[in-house]
Order: sequence, then C-alpha cells, then structure tokens
Amino acid sequence: MSTYHSFNFKQILMHKYLIEDEWMVIEDHFDPKFHKSSESLFSLGNGHMGLRANFEESYSGPSLQGSYIAGIYYPDKTRVGWWKNGYPEYFAKVLNAPSWIRMSIQVDGKELDLFTMKVHQFTRTLDMHKGLMIREFKASWPDGTTIKVETERFLSMKRKEIAAIRYRITPVDCSPEINANLIIDGDVRNQDSNYDEKFWEPITTKIKDHQAFVVSRTRKSGFEVCTAQWTQVQIYGDSETPKIQTNKDNESVSASYRSRVRAGDTIELIKFAAVVTSRDYTTNELILKAEERLTEVAKMGYLSLRTEQFDSWQHKWELSDIRINGDVSAQQGIRFNIFHLNQTYTGHDPRLNIGPKGFTGEKYGGSTYWDTEAFCLPFYLSTTDSQIAKNLLVYRYRHLGKAIENAEKLGFTDGAALYPMVTINGEECHNEWEITFEEIHRNGAIAYAIYNYIRHTGDDYYLAEKGLEVLIALSRFWSQRTTFSDVKQKFVILGVTGPNEYENNVNNNWYTNYLAAWTLAYTMESLDLVLENYPDDFDRVMELTGWPVKTEINRWQSIIQNMFLPENKEVGIFLQQEGYLDKEQMLASELNPAIRPLNQHWSWDRILRSCFIKQADVLQGLYFFEDQFDLETIRRNFDFYEPRTVHESSLSPCVHVILASKLGYTDKAYELYLRTSRLDLDDYNHEVHEGCHITSMAGTWMAVVEGFGGMEVSDNQLNINPVLPDTWKELSFTIHFRGLLLHIVANHKQITISEHQGKPFQVIVSRQAHRSSEGKPLCVRINE
Ligand code: BGC
Repeated sequence: MSTYHSFNFKQILMHKYLIEDEWMVIEDHFDPKFHKSSESLFSLGNGHMGLRANFEESYSGPSLQGSYIAGIYYPDKTRVGWWKNGYPEYFAKVLNAPSWIRMSIQVDGKELDLFTMKVHQFTRTLDMHKGLMIREFKASWPDGTTIKVETERFLSMKRKEIAAIRYRITPVDCSPEINANLIIDGDVRNQDSNYDEKFWEPITTKIKDHQAFVVSRTRKSGFEVCTAQWTQVQIYGDSETPKIQTNKDNESVSASYRSRVRAGDTIELIKFAAVVTSRDYTTNELILKAEERLTEVAKMGYLSLRTEQFDSWQHKWELSDIRINGDVSAQQGIRFNIFHLNQTYTGHDPRLNIGPKGFTGEKYGGSTYWDTEAFCLPFYLSTTDSQIAKNLLVYRYRHLGKAIENAEKLGFTDGAALYPMVTINGEECHNEWEITFEEIHRNGAIAYAIYNYIRHTGDDYYLAEKGLEVLIALSRFWSQRTTFSDVKQKFVILGVTGPNEYENNVNNNWYTNYLAAWTLAYTMESLDLVLENYPDDFDRVMELTGWPVKTEINRWQSIIQNMFLPENKEVGIFLQQEGYLDKEQMLASELNPAIRPLNQHWSWDRILRSCFIKQADVLQGLYFFEDQFDLETIRRNFDFYEPRTVHESSLSPCVHVILASKLGYTDKAYELYLRTSRLDLDDYNHEVHEGCHITSMAGTWMAVVEGFGGMEVSDNQLNINPVLPDTWKELSFTIHFRGLLLHIVANHKQITISEHQGKPFQVIVSRQAHRSSEGKPLCVRINE
C-alpha cells in the first residue's frame, strides 16, 4: 500500500538493553553504563510526587539523584548575555527534593555499593500492571561475603502523599552482622545547580517512636516540605532480633537496625514514607499531617497497601490500556508510555500540569509547555473522567490574570493575554527569547484545547463557565499582534517562531497565522453560543472582560477574512513561512546519518539557514484542522514537508504517523510510530539518562488511537477508521466519548465496538454512520 519514502530511522543507532515483555520492563544484568538511563526508565510517580529509579542503598557510580514533588520549584535567575526589556525575571527549576529512599547497608562493616562489588545476578523490573518497581540481585565483596537482596517499592496511587519500600537481605554463605540504616536525607542538590548551590534549607527534624520527620524549606520560593518515615524490621529465620538506634542532625534522620543474620535467614525492612507540603497545609501542621498519613498506612501494613496499589492500577488500565496483538515490542512500547502518563498527571489538583520530563529528570524544569494542550490533552480526554482533562484547561484559566500581565509587559493592552511558553505558576520562566518567547503559537494551542475538550466531551457549558473569558483575552492578543500590510492588503503576523524551532523570527508562519484567524472565528462563535444558551453567564463574562466593542469585533471579522496565509500554488503547498522556498532545498534522506541529529553537529547559524524542519509545522495545522482540508491538500503538503523534517523533537513523529495513516502510507506511519513508541526504551536520541520524554508519550498514544485506530471527532460525530500495520493482528483500546465508555477492537477485516453499560451509540466507520442496538456490540466489516 505504501509508496512513500523518506529518511529511514533504522539508520539511527539505538541503545537496546532491555527485555521485551508485554507488561514488564526488565533489565536482566547490571551494567553501570546504563544505570542512569535505567534510573529514568524505571521512574515511579503518582501525580503528587515521583522519583528516578535510584538505588536505595549507597551507589558510588554515575547516577542522577532525583526525587521530585509536583509544584515545588526554585526561581533561578535568568542569565543572558545582553538583557533586553521583556525578558522574564527567572527560569524555574524543578527541585531534587529530600530523599526518602536512602539507606546505608553495612555487612560486617562493609558498605553495600553495587558499583564496587561483584554483581552475580541482577534484575530490575518495572511491573507496569501493578505500579511496582522490583529489584533482585546477588553480589559479593572482594573477601567473598555474598548477599542476596530483593527490594520493591511503589508510590501509592490512592494515597498521594505515601510511598512504600520493602527491602530484604539474605546472607548467602556467611552469617554477618548487618547494619541497615534507613534515612530521610535533607542534604540534597540538583545536578544542574549553578556553582553547587543548595536549594533547600533545613527547618527542623524530629523522631517519635517508629517515625522520623525532616522539615525543609526551599530557598526563594519558600515552600515547606515534611518528608517522613515509619520503619519496621522483621527477621525470617531464627537469627537474633535486631537492635534499633535512631539518630538525627539538623537535616536528616535515621533509624538503624543491627543484627547478626544467619546464612539463609532474611532481614526484611519496611519503610513507609510520607511527603506533605505547604502547598496543601499550613507550615505548622506539616509534621502532624505526615504523622497521620504514616499512622494510617502503618495500621494497614505493607501487603494491604500493596494490594490497594494493584487495585488502583487495575482500574487505570481498564480505562487506558491499548492492546496490540502480534507485536510484543509495540505492545511494551505503548504500555510504557501509558504507564508514565498515568503516573505523571492524575488530575487531582488543577494547580498542577505536565512537564516534558514528568518526574524522571531535571530538564525543562518541570514546567508546562504548549505540549499539554497540543499533545497531552487527547490522552486524558479519552482515558479519564472528563473532570481530569478539564483540570488541564482550568490550569490555564487560573493563570489568565498572569497571562494578561505578561502581555502588558510586552506592550499589549485592554485585556489581551499572552500565555507563557514555559511556566510553572503562570509567569513566563524561560530564558531563550527567539525560540521560546517568539513561539506565540502557544496561545492558539490553548484556544484549540478548549475547542477540543468541548467537541470531545460535549460540555459546552465550559465556555460559559470559564472558556469564553480565556478566548476573548486570546483574541484580543491576536488582534493586536496582527498588522495590516498595505503592500499585501492582508493582515500579517511578523517576527515569530513557529513549531519548527529551527527557524526564528520569521514572517507569516502559516501555522501561526491560521491558528490566529481560527481563534478569532472560534471566539465569535463561542460568544454567540454563550449568549444564546447561557445568557446569565454571558452578562457576567461581558462585565468581567469589558464587552468586546463593535470596533473590536469588526477588526476580528476583518482579520478572519483577510489573514495572509502564504502558499505556493505551483508546488501546491502552504508555505511554512514567507521565503521558505528561497532556501536551498534538500531532503533529510540526503543527509549523512553521521551528522544527525543536526543540533549536535551543525552550528545554529547553519541550522537556521537550512531547509530542515525540526518538527511538524504546517503539518501540525493540517492535523489540528484535518476536517477543514481535503485529502489531496494534506497529501501534497505531507509529501513535501515530511521528507524535509528531521524529527529532532520527540513531539514530531506522532503527528506524522496520524497523517501518514490517513494517507495510506502505512509503512511510513509504522516506521515513525516505532520511533516514538520506543523512543525512550530504545534510547534513539541517546539522552534518556536525562529523563523520559513524557509529553511525547501522549503523542504516541495519539499515534495509535488517532493514527492506526483512525479516531477523529468531527461535526460532533465519532469517526473510527482503523488502518493497522501488517504485523499487528488486532488493536484494541477504550475511550470516553460524550458520556459513553467505548471499547474498540479492530483487526484487518472488522471492527467491534461495545459500550460498557450497553448504551446505544452511533459512530462513523468508512464515512458511513452505524448505530448500535441497546445492549449489543456493533460489528462493522472494513477494507472490503
Ligand atoms: C520542542 C517544543 C516543545 C519543547 C518541550 C522542544 O524540543 O521543539 O515544541 O515544546 O521541546 O517539550
């Protein structure tokens, strides 16, 4: 079927060292060279907090220590060579928080440290089905002392402030004295700190029975966090009962258990950790709240808490699993992505959002980008209750005031809003002008997300409640940011960066211009809708925003009708921006693979001059507005732009998979899909040690469900047009859609859709409407 050819990703070297399995990610031997990558890949999170898969015990080899708490950051000073007006005051850093996993294990006085020991057996397993990380190893010291360790840990999905570790040590052929020191360590740093700066200051420490507490405060931002532990020890066998000793200094606490353990006996250490913050409680209550949380789980015991964890994940998987029969590699890839998405954002708190690295690394500072609206929202719309996806919109609504201030700083007036490209609390907090600040297209993605939410859920009351206020402010921005060109007799938008960050300060980026005009049109439509259906809310919003006056509306209408949208009729494409075709035209397939990725080999100047595109730009627009363009227009643009795209953003392949599937370029779609689905597992970009690409994982979900599954919502109708890769026998997934919970199973011949309560529903398959009968699944033959 596929006739389409371009750069082949198989030419790119990947790092493959993990075992393929449908539900597990398994590392079956220990190689310190992969440790930092594994620390990212095996990370755990629960929406409130998360941590890299650092070892509990000491490790003197290369490691990136990372324990993160959602919403806790440090505003670092923006450092630029030449300060210009409009630059943000700071850029936000996600902080490596006090460590609750730390242990120091001494066996006959020798420190357990896998970097210096001989490791005989080692497995690290991420059990994605249960939400558990397990590690087992056997290792010896040079004098022959050998121990076996089995450890597992999880972050409770149900009790956000709680985590648990079970750590078991068995001496193999000796009966050593074991001293296990279980620590809460407040003396932590960030790897990317400038000049070894410390971001935390100690406030107090406390020990009470089996519990111990460390309270720390972040410098500058003043968040207080209480990190606490409850510990317990048990011996399996008849070795002596361990002696306990507790200790504290001004920033750490510990409980150490000492015992002579006979060969073959096991010492089991249980540690429950609680992390509570001043984002949720007053500073005076922090220790008390941590104590309450720990007492609750101590009563339950480790095994019940673990069962509760399995149940929570079972429920998550019932709603979000995708099954791919016939392709273990693809199956593991998609589940890995879904697992991380579910543990990064749970929607329990509208003050939180999704950072590009989630809880897996420091890069991107844990901040929110346009990634949320453009790439993450569809996953949460389909796989969770609509309130959870709605909270992603509410996040921006809560920042509207700051977005208006942000626009004012840049000279805009009258309630125009420019949302930040990078933010942690509503303020712009990055330090690269051309790339980030000029990407004003993020304002369009925020409008598009409102539209996307409503078309998917049918909840148009959101417009009356909150959405319209945001849309009016966005439209005011676009209206003021647009200038009328006498030469062109059209409205133009100058000096922007489009989604393709490999060109800066361009004029008339097609995507930005299209999105701007569309936002104005959608705001006008929304004004009408709210006026008609929710007149009281309409009056309230008008009062709040200052009724858009006639002249304002006239200008919006004029921009909608006369926006300049560059195109080249001869080539039959929309022009990424003016002048794009003046560049020397080359294809990515003509590049020597040795100089990929370009951003690590070419000067920035050379990249800017070249025709190579970092990620979907025109094609991003055609994906957003698929139903406004005919297939041939999409094909001409795809055929032109994809071969010039180097996909050097992890957000790039997914959009191309969706369009390629639609165009019948199935091989190309599949090749791009494998790259996105296993981007981190196979470390295509050689950077997974810094953290996983969480926001692009949502793109992978889009690639499967909207690409191969062919799901699209247009004209208020759900369309499902599956196009499966040859190697996939069957694809199944579940989606929420307007009060329905639909389970879809597709193979190469037929598609079966059932509603979980048997409610009747209508879908469009291969352009034909099909209605199910109450209580019965719908079966439609395809590809006939
Ligand atoms: C991409 C941006 C994205 C950012 C954070 C960049 O590499 O080009 O589109 O917002 O990463 O994920």
